[in-house]
Amino acid sequence: MLHDPNDVAPFVVDWRRQWRGDCLAVVQPDTAVDVCEVVRWCAANSISIVAQGGNTGLSGGATPAPGSRSVVLSTTRLRSVREVDSVNNTITVDAGCTLLDVQEAARAVGRLFPLSLAAEGTCTIGGNLATNAGGTAVLRYGTARELCLGLEVVTASGELWDGLRGLRKDNTGYDLKDLFIGSEGTLGIITGAVLRLFPRPSDSQVALVAVRSIGDALTLFGRLSESLGESLVACEVLNSSCVELVHAHSTTRSPFHPETPWVVLVEAVAMRADGYVRASLDEAFAAALADDLLIDVVVAESVGQIGRFWALRENVSEAQGAAGPTIKHDIAVPISRIERFVAEADAAVRSKFPAVRFVTFGHLGDGNLHYNFSPQPGSDLSDFLNSQNELNTLVHDVVRAHRGSISAEHGLGVLRRDEADRYRSEVERSLQQAVKQALDPMGIMNPGKVLPG
Ligand code: FAD
Repeated sequence: MLHDPNDVAPFVVDWRRQWRGDCLAVVQPDTAVDVCEVVRWCAANSISIVAQGGNTGLSGGATPAPGSRSVVLSTTRLRSVREVDSVNNTITVDAGCTLLDVQEAARAVGRLFPLSLAAEGTCTIGGNLATNAGGTAVLRYGTARELCLGLEVVTASGELWDGLRGLRKDNTGYDLKDLFIGSEGTLGIITGAVLRLFPRPSDSQVALVAVRSIGDALTLFGRLSESLGESLVACEVLNSSCVELVHAHSTTRSPFHPETPWVVLVEAVAMRADGYVRASLDEAFAAALADDLLIDVVVAESVGQIGRFWALRENVSEAQGAAGPTIKHDIAVPISRIERFVAEADAAVRSKFPAVRFVTFGHLGDGNLHYNFSPQPGSDLSDFLNSQNELNTLVHDVVRAHRGSISAEHGLGVLRRDEADRYRSEVERSLQQAVKQALDPMGIMNPGKVLPG
């Protein structure tokens, strides 16, 4: 147990140093049974518990509130790979295993665990499940929720629920697993999980495509989905500001002119290395060129080039941060509405905030955009920062008009807690509260996160 303020310090501030809080102590249990004991002791003493994995979350969910009577329960010592079943294609792990641990354990038996995100060396499977993380391969493999078959959870009363079932079919009542996934530590502590594994592809092709508009990017995505089906693993998009920022703040370079309006990154895989994927991509790109749908395309010719193409996409967040203050949105709308969403949100923002720079990128194939803003060079920074709340509302109102989500993959934490509640119907609000009340009647599990009050 850690008490000393210096030892506790890294656990009470988030990754981006946006939220700071206080706790009575940090506990680092070694086993699920120890987690039960901690929770029982906290429940008996009315002390709240903030579960924390790698502390890489982007919504402030793992940071205790300022002045709180809480303990931070760090899962990083729960780090065993319990079982790999290559016949059932499942892996059973402790919640504190990093995402990279799981990917490597899968690789060791010739399988793929496809969840992948830039924080994978630090974030934990427990945190990935608690936030229902997305990442770069949702288009083909789904979010963390879809990759999870079973869970082990310590409940708010300190009991151990063993739901570690590696089943694809199980209709035996309410799905408790799905309640805990995405609950951000507010219903219980995830201590173990059974995760799905997949065959490793033998061939992988990555291309960067220059297009004139998000509409053309979407048409291209539709065509690639039809010709490649499940082989299409990722379809990411970034606008010209993203490329300019990456050029200014890293050594990564786009193969196209930096002012190219939009760049699409496509990844397609196959179980056989007979050139099928490359041939399908070449055919689709040739047809798109003939139809004037794209400006230019480059298919990576080496593993190194694949890495450099992905770096262009993955370095955007860091480059935007390095350039100065940012206002971020993690939104999702149905894919069929992305073009209208971008047109309407761009117009609404431009008319009220002409000094805002649009830094739009994300997972086009999942309908999830990081619809971000930076200040235009030379503009007033305090004006930009003061516009944050109004910009959030403006963007989220357009999201809502398209029946979208204001938090696609980063969770609510404290960042989006109140806004999410504002958009809820009375029915939805009372159902959400009923779940919390049923599973955490004392309100000790990560209070003040996800739901207000
Ligand atoms: P923490 O940050 O420790 O916790 C996050 C939340 O989960 C908190 O509410 C916490 O209380 C709860 N929690 C943690 N562990 C448990 C547990 N065992 N039981 C119950 N509750 C628990 N996310 C994406 O979806 N896609 C991305 O592409 C992506 N890219 C990222 C890139 C970077 C560089 C960074 C820093 C973050 C990124 N994220 C992304 C955010 C993502 O949510 C986290 O990286 C990760 O899923 C959280 O895992 P963690 O172990 O760090 O959780």
